[in-house]
Amino acid sequence: MKIFIDGKFYDESEAKISVFDHGLLYGDGVFEGIRIYNGRVFLLDEHLDRLADSAKAIMLKLPLPLPEIRAATLETCRQNNLRDGYIRLVVTRGVGNLGLSPDKCPKATVFIIADAIQLYPEKFYEEGLRVVTVPTQRIPPAALSPAVKSLNYLNNIMAKIECQAAGAQEAIMLNHEGYVAECSGDNVFVLKKGIITTPPIWAGALGGLTRKYVIDLARQIGREVRESMLTRYDLFVADEVFLTGTAAEVVPVSDIDGRIIGTGKPGPVTGDLIRRFRELTRLAGVAIYS
Ligand code: PMP
Repeated sequence: MKIFIDGKFYDESEAKISVFDHGLLYGDGVFEGIRIYNGRVFLLDEHLDRLADSAKAIMLKLPLPLPEIRAATLETCRQNNLRDGYIRLVVTRGVGNLGLSPDKCPKATVFIIADAIQLYPEKFYEEGLRVVTVPTQRIPPAALSPAVKSLNYLNNIMAKIECQAAGAQEAIMLNHEGYVAECSGDNVFVLKKGIITTPPIWAGALGGLTRKYVIDLARQIGREVRESMLTRYDLFVADEVFLTGTAAEVVPVSDIDGRIIGTGKPGPVTGDLIRRFRELTRLAGVAIYS
């Protein structure tokens, strides 16, 4: 595997970051997870835009102009001969000293890993996921906006640990007011009486690109989609619930906190969105080998 770090490609065993990098010392940095389908990078420019927004929000100056990061991302796919897979694009604050101060980090570090992807087994798409709401709340937007895709994932990792301890596949996180925010690594949608609803970003969610794509897709096929606050009750009584994320794509939920969702089998609207989303992933995206 060839890994891009600050303008050069390294073999996996040689791809190293300083222990003084604030990405490691403090989780000070931003990242993107991006899919490669059928020789194309899916939603590449949207991911680059979100990376730039995350960096701006935390006052992190990107070490390369965005078009160069874009070119390096595509080149990393070529170097690894990938037609399908997953890209991890990371920008850290860079090498500093042991203090917090970012002004001691003169240059941000950028690295790009492109690899095969670990997917949910197909049975979860056929049967649905078991999810639980977890005690760890999503960080309030006034503390650290969940809209920033930062390297600080401890909040999400705590949620993951809690859901795994409960034997579930995903964790639904509530915000500090008790409303549904999102999952540890996915956004959440419910369908009730034909209307699709997902929490607004300001509920404490990442502006997921799969979320946005699925909202557009659902509206294009004439479905009403709302962004409004949801409670646990709304989840329990939904006709269908599904999650969206770059790695998960669109994945159905069959059980939340022991309540069976709908019939207990993935519903027709979720099934339709899964099919349509998969069709689009095969056609859309920036060609790697043109
Ligand atoms: N929420 C969180 C916390 C995430 O980490 C992610 C990405 N894995 C998502 C939602 C989904 O976002 P996207 O569709 O852009 O992958």
